[in-house]
Order: sequence, then C-alpha cells, then structure tokens
Amino acid sequence: MLREFNINGYIVNVEPLHIGAGKEPPLGSLVDLAVLRIKYMGIDLPYIPGSSLKGVFRSTATTIVRSKGMKACSGLSKETCMELEDVVTERVKGELGEVIRSYLRENKSKEAMELFFKNACILCKIFGAPSYTGKVTFSDAYPIDENGKPFPFSFDIKTGIAIDRKTGAVYSGALYTLEYVKPGVSFKFSIHCTNLPNYALGLLATVMSMIQTGDVKIGGFKTRGLGGIRFEKLFIRARDLPKIESPILRSLEEGVDEEVDLSNLVTLKDGWLIAEGSSAWNVLRKLEEVWWRAGPKGRSNQTESKR
Ligand SMILES: [Zn+2]
Repeated sequence: MLREFNINGYIVNVEPLHIGAGKEPPLGSLVDLAVLRIKYMGIDLPYIPGSSLKGVFRSTATTIVRSKGMKACSGLSKETCMELEDVVTERVKGELGEVIRSYLRENKSKEAMELFFKNACILCKIFGAPSYTGKVTFSDAYPIDENGKPFPFSFDIKTGIAIDRKTGAVYSGALYTLEYVKPGVSFKFSIHCTNLPNYALGLLATVMSMIQTGDVKIGGFKTRGLGGIRFEKLFIRARDLPKIESPILRSLEEGVDEEVDLSNLVTLKDGWLIAEGSSAWNVLRKLEEVWWRAGPKGRSNQTESKR
C-alpha cells in the first residue's frame, strides 16, 4: 500500500434523472421505463449504482486519454486490452488475457502483474479489466444524509414518442412513459482510490470537472435534457504510506508522475491530508494539471494492437 485517496460528498441531480431498472416492467405497471430503486427502512429509494458512475467515469476518461494521443481501449465486454492486445515474449505468444491467466494458474502473479502493466492501457490499469480489479471503486450513491436518514425525493413521469434510431422516423402511435427522479435530490457518494499516481488522480479529477460543468451526464435520455448532475460538499481524505507529516502527495512513478504540494489547501491529521469544499476542488485542479503535463512519452510499448 502506497496511497489511499478518498473523495466523498453528494451528487445532486440538477436535471431529471433516469437510471433504469433495466428489465421489462410487470404487466399493469404504470410506466414502461421505471427508475431503479432499493428498499431502505421500508422505503423504495432511487439510487445511483456505483457501476453507473464507474461507467461514466471510464467512458469519459477514454475520450480524454485518446484526445492526448494515448492508447485506450473502450473497456466494453470483450474489448479490453486483455482481449485486444497480443503479447510476444521469448516464452509465450497470445492474447494478453490468456497469457496472464496461464501465469496465474502457475502462481506466477508477479510475472502476470508485470505483463499487465507493460501492455494494458491506462484505463484498464485504473478501472480494471477481466482478471484485474483496478484501483478505483465507486460506491452506490443513496439519497441519505450523514446519519442515514433519507432525503426528500419525488418521481414524475413524462411521455415520449419512440423514434426509430436508424431512420429517425416516428413509430406510429408508439408512445412510452418514462419515469424519472425530479431535480434537486442529494445522493451521498464515495470514490476510493488505492495506489493511484497523481497524474491518474488528475485524470479522474478532469472527469469530475467535466461533470460539474454539465459536459458529462449520467443515466438514460441524456440527449433529451436528462442526467445533469453536480457534486456538492466535496471532502477529500488522502495519505501516502509510509506516513509523511507534510502536505504533499509523492510522485509514484519516476519520470512520469510529479510530486504535488498541497500547502494551504489541506489540513494534516494523523498522517491524513484533508480538504473540504472549495479547497477540495483546488486539490483536484492541481492534480488535473499534473495529468495534462504527464505526456505519453516513454509509455509506448512493443505490442501489436488489433485495433
Ligand atoms: Zn485497456
């Protein structure tokens, strides 16, 4: 363990939010497209699954990484570096994932890890890939306060006309009813990062600022005015190990990463660096700068890509 970096706070939907249950409604249901709910203290709460947040962060990060000319797989099923990269060493040849799994079967986890880090893209390293869990986890975000008490929320329904995605033509009489969470609900979220270098934290910070400005939305029907969210009451808690009693985040990768000085932005408490509100945003901004300075130089590799 070299570093823990946690971001907590609230996600507030500033637009109607539809995160679907993803299954056919029961016969007699009032809506065709229902909002995902979870039972909590006898109440059906809407919530934002961690997997939805992770999906949005990864797909946005993919766009950012590619805009810098760095390689990035889509992360979709069967389209990660595990499937797309071929490795050729003096001993083995084949798909990265297969070679890694064969190493793992022989208990060669160190070799498997080295091969992964040499060949996978930055997104697979941060968010994970088959046989590799990644370095960031997103909790489910529930509309509950610090004491576990539910915040007020309400649902509404709008009727839409189904459009043929290919032709853009309106299906005759094909109306659907869409359920959504009305704007203004606070969802408590947390993001945990382990051992992420400063530039990688900066990539996540870049995604957060794109969400904050409304350039990135979550859930369904994003092109129809749904899914805009904002982060509120940000709280960052980070520490490097072994413990250091100074307001810096070390460079974790020689030649690529940079040390970040957070003097005047964080308070120190038992080895933890803590920042709240606007200071937390300023910490993220400093990390973002590291991301944009960290170049693709020195990160090319000798693999053949099938893309
Ligand atoms: Zn990848």
